[in-house]
Amino acid sequence: MTETMIPAALGGRDQDFLAPAARLRGAGIGGLEELTDIQRSERLVRMREGILGSIHSWELVTAVDGPGTRMTIFLNGCPLRCLYCHNPDTFLMKDGEPVEANELLRRMKRYRNVFRASGGGITLSGGEVLMQPAFAARLLAGAKAMGVHTCIDTSGYLGRNATDEMLNNIDLVLLDVKSGDEETYKRVTGRELAPTIAFGDRLAAKGIEIWARFVLVPGLTDSPENVENVARIIERWGSVVSRVEVLPFHQMGTDKWDALGLDYKLRDARPPEPELVESTRAIFRSRGFTVH
Ligand code: SF4
Repeated sequence: MTETMIPAALGGRDQDFLAPAARLRGAGIGGLEELTDIQRSERLVRMREGILGSIHSWELVTAVDGPGTRMTIFLNGCPLRCLYCHNPDTFLMKDGEPVEANELLRRMKRYRNVFRASGGGITLSGGEVLMQPAFAARLLAGAKAMGVHTCIDTSGYLGRNATDEMLNNIDLVLLDVKSGDEETYKRVTGRELAPTIAFGDRLAAKGIEIWARFVLVPGLTDSPENVENVARIIERWGSVVSRVEVLPFHQMGTDKWDALGLDYKLRDARPPEPELVESTRAIFRSRGFTVH
C-alpha cells in the first residue's frame, strides 16, 4: 500500500467502528499457538479457500483510497519491503487477525447506503491484497453482488495471483508504480518492476480503471529520469488511467519500524519541498494526465 496523510478536515481517515487494533510482530501469535494441530490445519484450509483471511485492521475513510466514503480493509502479508513503508506491521501474514470473509461482508452490507450516497465503496489494501487472493476474491464478489463499488490498492507485484474472474469484480485499481527503472525499483522495494508493468497491461486490456500512484522520496525516487520512466510506463495503459497521484514521502512510519526492531533506512530522509512535488506533478501533467 501507499498512503499519504490527509488532515481530517479534508476528509482523511476516521475510525468510527470497532476495528482490530494494529498488531505488532508476535502480538497475534499467542492465539495461534493455543490451537491443536487439527485446528491449525483446518484454519489453513479455510484460509486457502478464502473463507478466512488475515487482517491488520479496517476503517471508514473519506477522500482517500478511492472515491467517496470507503471501507478500507488492510490485509496482512506483503512480498515487498518498501524502504518508506508506513505499515511494516503488515509485512507478515501471521501477524494479522483471523477474520471471516462473511463477517466483513456483513459489515459492508450495513454501509451500503453510505457507499451509495457518497459514491464510495470498499477498498482492499494492505500489506498486499494479492497475497490472499482467494479471500480477496470472496470479498470482491460479495461486494459486487451487493452492488458496492470495489477497489484494490496494490503494487501489482503479485498480479499473476488475480484470476480473470477476480478482475471482473474490480471497478478500480490503485496501482503503485514505485519507480520507473529497474534499479531504483529494486532499491526501493527489494523486488522487480516487470510484474507491475505486466499487471497494468492486463488491466488496460480488460478496460479496468487505474489510479496510478507514485511516492516521491527526495534522493531515492525523485530524479527526473526516474519520474519520466514512471510516466512512460503509465502511458502504456492509456485511457484507463483516470488519475495519477504523486504522494509526497513523510516520516509517519518511523515508530512502527522501531517498535518491530526493524532497520529503518530513511531516518534522515526529508519530505519533498513543495517545488519538487509541483515539478514532479508537472511531468505527469505534461503528458495529459489528471494529477493529484
Ligand atoms: S507494498 Fe508492502 S512494503 Fe511496500 S508500502 Fe505497501 S505494504 Fe509496505
